[in-house]
Amino acid sequence: MLIECGLYQERQLRGRNWEPFPVPPQTIRAVLLSHAHVDHCGLIPKLVRDGFRGKIYCTEATADLAPIMLLDTARLQEEDAEFKKKRHEREKRKGPYPEVPLYTLEDARASIPFFAPVRYRETVNLGDGISATFYDAGHVLGSATIKVAVRQNGEVRTITFSGDLGRWNRPIIRDPDIFRTTDYVIIESTYGDREHPDDENIEDSLAEIVNTTWKKRGNIIVPSFALERSQEILYYMNKLLLADRIPHIMVFLDSPMAVSITEVFKRHAELFDEEMRRLLKEKKSPFDFPGLKMVESVDESKAINHIKGTVMIIAGSGMVTGGRIKHHLVTNISRPASTVLFVGYQAVGTLGREIVDGARKVRILGKYYRVRARIARLEGLSAHADRNDLLRWLSSLTQPPRRVIIVHGEPESSRNFAELVQQKTGWQVAVPHYGEVMELD
Ligand SMILES: [Zn+2]
Repeated sequence: MLIECGLYQERQLRGRNWEPFPVPPQTIRAVLLSHAHVDHCGLIPKLVRDGFRGKIYCTEATADLAPIMLLDTARLQEEDAEFKKKRHEREKRKGPYPEVPLYTLEDARASIPFFAPVRYRETVNLGDGISATFYDAGHVLGSATIKVAVRQNGEVRTITFSGDLGRWNRPIIRDPDIFRTTDYVIIESTYGDREHPDDENIEDSLAEIVNTTWKKRGNIIVPSFALERSQEILYYMNKLLLADRIPHIMVFLDSPMAVSITEVFKRHAELFDEEMRRLLKEKKSPFDFPGLKMVESVDESKAINHIKGTVMIIAGSGMVTGGRIKHHLVTNISRPASTVLFVGYQAVGTLGREIVDGARKVRILGKYYRVRARIARLEGLSAHADRNDLLRWLSSLTQPPRRVIIVHGEPESSRNFAELVQQKTGWQVAVPHYGEVMELD
């Protein structure tokens, strides 16, 4: 049984994507997938290509979202390989990995029939005394914490895989489920050493940015991730419009991927929290407000540039490493009236990071542009639990688990969180290293 099958995105770890799987894929009976982010599902096409023939269990929304993410990743892999090949030919050298895509669009398509959607809170029997149940993780649409029960020699052990955990009281989706008992917990630690600022008011900040930019007749350009973040921005814009706190500007969601993902959101209203349900009932959906335009074709995207007056354009990629956002930056980044609004983490080495770090001149699509637009950030939009949320989630256990196993964070972050858990609970804690084998008794 394999839990998650993620793609390494960090530059220094990407080499692992090319290594053979640690066990032969044809010997794996099932994959249990927590959610559709690529660092959790991105190697599935490779797993299937290399011989996996079992089922990939995940929630229904994840089964709708993951194929969108995988096809997009495959396309990027193909483009990347092509680009590298050309560059290496030009420079007459070879790179560390073959100049073929990690997997192709065809591989990604071939993996889709293996997805086996299950409902939240419905137990699936995986044979050999093993069963799994998916609960809300509150991270992104369809995200799950997976509780696995193993019956062996008349005894039962439960292992709870947190998946990526979200935060309480976030827009659109429900809060994380909590658990009273489990024998083992495998918990993520992305923000295991950080706390989110709790006093930042997203609505106030966003209203100020929209109003100020509107007065200057500039545009608001928002580089955004397609899953969850884009829909959250729409949620907050809708809220401000309903409260009459901002003028009725046009909002373009200019990303075919974000548009398809928003369609998946609309199909899964059963997963929304109470507030979202109320909005839908009152016909005030954040995915349907006056002025919102879903843009798919390139021609439509180009036409946005001819609109006079303030518009908001939400486009990918989130860290400005590719996608349509680059074209919108070309036309806006040197305009003092416009605002570039960052709503997510910007990794070192990306154009997004360069801009938020205050670069005065940046290179976009082969040309240099002076940065004259206002550069703004909304910090409070993280979809990840911080260390307090993680601890709150763990603390719902009323009995000490046999072990808390801390994974999925930078080493610093995992270690820090391990210390915190030990201090606060006195429970047995482990931080396994890559490739470590652990025996659960
Ligand atoms: Zn995630």
